[in-house]
Amino acid sequence: MIPYGKHYIDDADIAAVVNVLRRGTLTQGSRVDSFEESFASSVGAKYAVAVSSGTAALHLACMATDVGPGDNVVTSANTFVASANCAAFVGASPRFTDIDPVTLNMSADDLADRCEVLGEVKAIIPVHFAGAACDMAAIKAIAEDYGAQVIEDACHALGGRYDSGEKIGSCQHSDMTVFSFHPVKAIAAGEGGMITTNDVKLYERLIQLRSHGIFHQKLLTTFEHIDISDAFVLKDEAYENGQVNPWYFEMRELGYNYRLTEIQCALAESQLSKLDRFVTYRKDLASRYDEAFYGIENLTCTQSDQRDQSGHHLYVVRIDFESLAMSRGEFMRRLMEKGIGTQVHYIPVPLHPYYQSRGFTLADYPEAEKYYREALSLPFYFNLSDEEQGLVVSSIQSILR
Ligand SMILES: *Cc1c(COP(=O)(O)O)cnc(C)c1O
Repeated sequence: MIPYGKHYIDDADIAAVVNVLRRGTLTQGSRVDSFEESFASSVGAKYAVAVSSGTAALHLACMATDVGPGDNVVTSANTFVASANCAAFVGASPRFTDIDPVTLNMSADDLADRCEVLGEVKAIIPVHFAGAACDMAAIKAIAEDYGAQVIEDACHALGGRYDSGEKIGSCQHSDMTVFSFHPVKAIAAGEGGMITTNDVKLYERLIQLRSHGIFHQKLLTTFEHIDISDAFVLKDEAYENGQVNPWYFEMRELGYNYRLTEIQCALAESQLSKLDRFVTYRKDLASRYDEAFYGIENLTCTQSDQRDQSGHHLYVVRIDFESLAMSRGEFMRRLMEKGIGTQVHYIPVPLHPYYQSRGFTLADYPEAEKYYREALSLPFYFNLSDEEQGLVVSSIQSILR
């Protein structure tokens, strides 16, 4: 069976994990720091905070912006549910924009309209769908009009670039950027996530929130600007003769255990060293699909003008199932019979029962709906062979004929 997405593990990845297991420290050790440093430098951000998943990253990013009850948080209708759920986690109100039918990303024009209707907007979460960057300059300009924070959901976009050529994750037009290391994403850690930022205050907040909201002495070396004698709230408990008591730590706000283990960080850092290879490989796959499907009836390739910049997480085609007179389910089943897995990204978030019960309706997002009815993600991952890709192409061609 050829799946739509798959991770790739080599001997170096295995050796990195085994090395951690042999050395003994399984969590809160130097692999975390090392991975964070490599990651920050690879995307061109000042700081990176490793967490247990992309969802945890989104949750902490919302907490760090102090989004809460009564606040509107706007994301795209065409995304994974976590991009909206993170607002609900902190008691805020998730809101949606429609998509641009060409980029499949949040439409900046629609964002401007919806913000005007909402009046107040506390945070905007653009999603770089399938790896192609949103129009961040336009989104940032709208955010500034409302004093809204910008959290980029770059779970698809590690290894991608903005139109400007800057790397996604460098936070040129945002406060924070969030990534996922789920095995179908650009690099795998089993589960895992990352938040990048250039803001030292956000960085320190995220570090604290990741581990129960606790500030402890070890963080004095991480938070370099903090004066030791003034580092703790409860001075009588914290100090004796000007020295910090060896056992002392403080919980300052309600946080979580969203830490990533040494094992996962070792794997992820080893994977990160292969990122360029992964992205280049998928870029070539995308170009070959583009060529093979050029001019074919009832099928349209998407984001073809983004081949040079995209992180290439997904390869999505739009198929006019209506004019083909075949349902998408039937189409997918026929491919499955040939050993080919496909998927739909995404069921628009407002369509899910939870969001419908909160008053959302798909009809308010006509482009997202139209796109959803036609979308199909094809097998697309590092090491998908020429033969396998050829089988995908010929099978689709024969069903379309
Ligand atoms: C995968 C994904 C997430 C969630 O990441 P996890 O690591 O699975 O929690 C969030 N947003 C988008 C767009 C994703 O694709």
